[in-house]
Amino acid sequence: MTETNHAQSFAPDFDRNTPAYLWWNGKCIPWNSATVHLTTTFWTGVTAIFEGIMSYWNEDDGELYIWQLDAHLRRLLRSQKLMRQASPYSVEELTAAVLELVRLLEVRGDTYIFPFCYPQGGGNFESSTRLEPQPVEISITARPNPSHLGLDWVRSACVSSYTRISDNVMPPRVKNIANYRNSNLAMAEAHINGYDTALILNPQGKIAEGPGSCVMLLRDGVLVTPSGTESILESITRAAVIELARRELGLEVVERPVDRTELYVADEVFMVGTAAEILTIGSVDRYTIGDGGMGPVTRKLEKIFHDVVRGKRPEYAHWYTPAGLSAARRG
Ligand code: PMP
Repeated sequence: MTETNHAQSFAPDFDRNTPAYLWWNGKCIPWNSATVHLTTTFWTGVTAIFEGIMSYWNEDDGELYIWQLDAHLRRLLRSQKLMRQASPYSVEELTAAVLELVRLLEVRGDTYIFPFCYPQGGGNFESSTRLEPQPVEISITARPNPSHLGLDWVRSACVSSYTRISDNVMPPRVKNIANYRNSNLAMAEAHINGYDTALILNPQGKIAEGPGSCVMLLRDGVLVTPSGTESILESITRAAVIELARRELGLEVVERPVDRTELYVADEVFMVGTAAEILTIGSVDRYTIGDGGMGPVTRKLEKIFHDVVRGKRPEYAHWYTPAGLSAARRG
């Protein structure tokens, strides 16, 4: 796949770490004015929740396509429900907020959009232990994040010695900031031991997921992935890739418990997720998968996924939202 460089993005004075604006509690404001008192940070992470949304620049259309915006915002509201947060904004209002922000930033490249909902005033240990949903504040930031699709990235993975959080510990199906301590431990262990990433076993000793992505393996032409009750996030990319594998490649896809040694003997292993996109795993615990590079099915899926997310497959238009940047420029 030939890839253009999607790294150049946003307005000319755009700095990756400090975009000119962010959206906060109902309006876009200058980045530097989004401040809170130090003490409000103390307990925030316990119940704070977030979303990670990729959006892909299409140079031919002069347009940014926001991937699965609706599904991400609906998951945000599910996360809020589980954390007993009041939801001051509807999916429609949050959609409008995201669009307002990326238009204001004049985005011109692949962009990571990060809605964040945290307890008003920072909360305390008691907040979210009450029956009534508790008030929250919401911010949305957008930062350049060039896609790695088409760049042939291959990553090594280990099976982590840490156990994945589970539904009766800290429900992994939603995106609670605190859940990521578990991911962080697994990732740190992997890096320190010389691996790129980790795969984490659930309490039943079966493969759950990576620190920030789900995992799929291909064996004898069948695509296998842990099911939604195996201590995984309800991943939006996972659902899309399952559908694409079935519809576009006619693959049989099975959702079931997965043993770690199934990965060792698989023909192909890859991660899927908003940041992982489709990411080849070339080895697990130093067992080489296939020939150690991107496998043929992974490559096909990656190509299809690339074309779909970048808005080149109109039959999947229900999965992406044009940001309206081309219309804004014409107008
Ligand atoms: N699992 C975890 C723990 C994650 O953080 C992510 C990234 N959001 C995923 C899986 C993949 O989910 P999605 O496809 O919705 O990005």
